[in-house]
Amino acid sequence: MLSSNSTIGIVGGGQLGRMSAVAASRLGFQTHILSDIPNAPASQVASKTTIGAYDDPKTLEIFANAVDVITFEFENISAQGIDLLSSIRPVHPSGNILRISQDRILEKSFLNQHNIPTTRWIKIEQPADGECAALNLGYPYILKTTRLGYDGKGQAVIHNLEDFITAFAHLKPHPLIAEKMVDFSCEVSVMVARNIHGVVQTFDVTENRHKNGILDISLAPARILPELQKQAQELAMHIARSLDLIGIMGVELFIDCNNKVLVNEIAPRPHNSGHWTMNACPIDQFEMHIRAVTGLPLPPAIRHSDAVMKNLIGPEDMALWPQILATPELIGHLYGKDIAKKGRKMGHVNVIFPYNSLPGDFGIQAILNGL
Ligand code: ADP
Ligand code: MG
Repeated sequence: MLSSNSTIGIVGGGQLGRMSAVAASRLGFQTHILSDIPNAPASQVASKTTIGAYDDPKTLEIFANAVDVITFEFENISAQGIDLLSSIRPVHPSGNILRISQDRILEKSFLNQHNIPTTRWIKIEQPADGECAALNLGYPYILKTTRLGYDGKGQAVIHNLEDFITAFAHLKPHPLIAEKMVDFSCEVSVMVARNIHGVVQTFDVTENRHKNGILDISLAPARILPELQKQAQELAMHIARSLDLIGIMGVELFIDCNNKVLVNEIAPRPHNSGHWTMNACPIDQFEMHIRAVTGLPLPPAIRHSDAVMKNLIGPEDMALWPQILATPELIGHLYGKDIAKKGRKMGHVNVIFPYNSLPGDFGIQAILNGL
């Protein structure tokens, strides 16, 4: 267990690092950010920042030597970089988990090896694999890059061989992954945390809706059958144990139209779909993460209220900030980003409701009032 006043190093300067740093400070820890830009959202609330490239050995060395434990808010650091950090200080979650989650093929292979159901998929290495994908998966299917995809970027829906040829030429680098299109009734996620003593806790299942490939709204608890909630949480715990996770992880899942639960992807860090926990749980996902990586006790992830989370994206949503501030039910969180570019996550709004009284879609829309 790290003593309070120890320093937690966070790789990445975005909003997930910012909210993790705030949670860390509540527990008496110092935070030190590694970022490639000055005045990053996380740096604004941390004790110190090292600025430099994530793949520069000297930068990584200086950062690692200045902290007591290292964690991540962003996953795309090179294997060599992780190895270097791990040779100097404990890194949670481990480099091996990052390596798996960075690559959709490694990720799905790992899940399937551990009997975790996913949609059917195949590796695409050459143009001839297009016919194989059509035969195996049927049209339409989804073609994705294996690395660096986020918010639906690096993906194409393939309806015929022509679509495939075009997408194969555009999506880089190769190999790619082709996934059978899931006819889902609901997209959900589970935040699962595990500490060094093997204690595992999951938050309640969240229902997620996307707009233009970006998470728009999350509802907690997800409006799915209790047995499906239980299955989703058990799958998340099984993945956390199989990975030897230390920290928090977001597990994204589909509930298909036959009520089968399939895992879509994992993110071994706090997750956008867990932001509702900030106002609906005594201990939110960020505090749970900090507790897990510092060896503090990991209590049950209790939800005291129901919640709706709405992302604030780009200039359109930011224009509504004065209205949000003037509406007491809307709990606003801003990330300290200077320019509201199109598609950029600027903040989010949480609305909480008494336990087990989430309103229907109409009621939620009325409360969000134009958001
Ligand atoms: P990202 O890394 O961009 O989050 P995802 O694999 O989660 O990538 O895909 C983004 C979204 O695209 C998902 O949340 C889901 O709505 C849709 N999607 C992805 N894969 C599938 C699939 N195999 N079947 C149906 N929808 C999918
Ligand atoms: Mg996703």
